[in-house]
Amino acid sequence: MTHERESGRPEERGLSRRSLLKAGVALTGAAVATSATTAVAVADEAQDPNRRKFDVIVVGAGVAGVTATRELRAKGKRVLLLEARDRVGGRTWTDTWRGHMIERGGTWVDRLQPHVWRELNRYELPIMADAGVTRAFMPTLTGFEELDPSVAYVRQNALFTRFFEDSTRIYPEPFKPFANRDLVAKFDRFSLRDRLDQMALAPEDEILLTSWTSLYGGSSKRGALTHIQQWWALAGGTFEAFHGVNTYRPALGTVSILNAMLAEAKPVLKLNSPVKSVVQNPGKVTVTTRAGEVYTAPEVIMAVPVNVWKTISFSPALPAAHREATTAGMGVTEERKLWIDLEHPTDRFVAESPEGSGHPFCYIGRFNDDQPVVAFTVDTSFDAYDRGAVERAIRKIIPDARVRDHIVTNFATDEFALGTGGYRQPYQLIRLHEKLQQPHGRVKFAGSDIANGWNGYIDGAIEDGLRVAGSPTLSGPAALAASAEERIFVPKVNREAYRGLSVR
Ligand SMILES: Cc1cc2nc3c(=O)[nH]c(=O)nc-3n(C[C@H](O)[C@H](O)[C@H](O)COP(=O)(O)OP(=O)(O)OC[C@H]3O[C@@H](n4cnc5c(N)ncnc54)[C@H](O)[C@@H]3O)c2cc1C
Repeated sequence: MTHERESGRPEERGLSRRSLLKAGVALTGAAVATSATTAVAVADEAQDPNRRKFDVIVVGAGVAGVTATRELRAKGKRVLLLEARDRVGGRTWTDTWRGHMIERGGTWVDRLQPHVWRELNRYELPIMADAGVTRAFMPTLTGFEELDPSVAYVRQNALFTRFFEDSTRIYPEPFKPFANRDLVAKFDRFSLRDRLDQMALAPEDEILLTSWTSLYGGSSKRGALTHIQQWWALAGGTFEAFHGVNTYRPALGTVSILNAMLAEAKPVLKLNSPVKSVVQNPGKVTVTTRAGEVYTAPEVIMAVPVNVWKTISFSPALPAAHREATTAGMGVTEERKLWIDLEHPTDRFVAESPEGSGHPFCYIGRFNDDQPVVAFTVDTSFDAYDRGAVERAIRKIIPDARVRDHIVTNFATDEFALGTGGYRQPYQLIRLHEKLQQPHGRVKFAGSDIANGWNGYIDGAIEDGLRVAGSPTLSGPAALAASAEERIFVPKVNREAYRGLSVR
């Protein structure tokens, strides 16, 4: 049986209504949908958003929207947070599956990502480190070769370092994407494929890079070179750190960050409230949900993915740059993330397969002894829901592999995401980025997709939530200071020996 979407009872999922209630968050209206919420709705009648006045309506309770809400509440604003789903978190989604806590979207956090690192320290949220792998299966021109992970690491280090050779020059101040505007303009036209072609690598070397270029860009032809170059610069320009940003994860799930923010902010949060229109009139903005509920406030923050803007009616219409971005799409369009209960083998391994090889998993591996296997595919011809197909694909790498169960998450077909992680196409940085951060009258926009720094990461979502709320973001010495914080226990890892999951 193949699982999709809703897995586990509501209270097992990351941010249960009970935990929201404990946090003092006012859950209202449509949140009464399941029995777990009844007590909450009754208790909060006084908070009925229809009877209250708000200074700001935040649409979208992903990381960016929740961060903006927390900041605005700290400034004394009355905030209504409207969320389409029955949970907060958006493209992060802490879930429970077969007794394991799993992340169905964003997962890894790192001290090089100062905004999220600061939040972990602020709320003293525990983190854990992945244990790493003992076997690496790397692609060759005729199949897969089993290597000692450190040998694979050395090979890829040399290739990645060459691939990224201009990055720190293009981004001398990596949290400020236009610190060297001329060079950004020069490089932003290139796709990841352009860079691979320019390098003219031997085929056996090129295939050691293309699992990454396809995964990050959705396809090497679609993804912009400048986007991944900025990540490399943000990681300090080394392979060790670039891969290493996928070592630590919040031990209580990514949702623990949102839980803590909401507990502090205590906003009025309305789940199950997809917004269908945003209309600006003199002095106020009117927001209407699909269910016909109408809310007004002097200001609205749209913290929904760029790709979703086109599904919402704006009056006046969105500016040209916003229309262009949402029509062309930003981010990886086809990625699906699988968690696989692999009966055999049970050890920690990693395997990569190159773009266009016919093998569906760009990346697959088990990184902790007690966890299921995680895999990513951008292959549109692959039926990720077909258990037999999943097992056959793994057997091409490990012939006697046996799959017991698996679960698929597809944010690309999810109407409230319409894509997975943020990733730009060529020309989008230079042509659109700054314009997308501009307000449209009384409507502002936020999200990881339009963040300045770790765009496409949780850190970027927090950064952009701060920006839109008028709070300072971190860069330069302030970022370094936040990264140095260690109020939480940080498990020590040898990042060079570690060949972890280097995907977003
Ligand atoms: C498979 C995958 C793996 C990833 N791995 C990592 C990782 O390891 N580390 C990392 O840092 N990042 C990772 N990311 C990226 C990270 O998860 C995202 O960048 C980040 O969560 C985006 O946050 P956001 O608030 O900008 O957007 P979202 O999380 O998309 O939040 C937007 C919110 O708006 C809501 N919404 C949409 N439409 C409407 C509407 N009409 N009305 C009301 N609400 C609406 C959505 O339901 C959602 O809650 C990954 C992403 C994916 C998909």
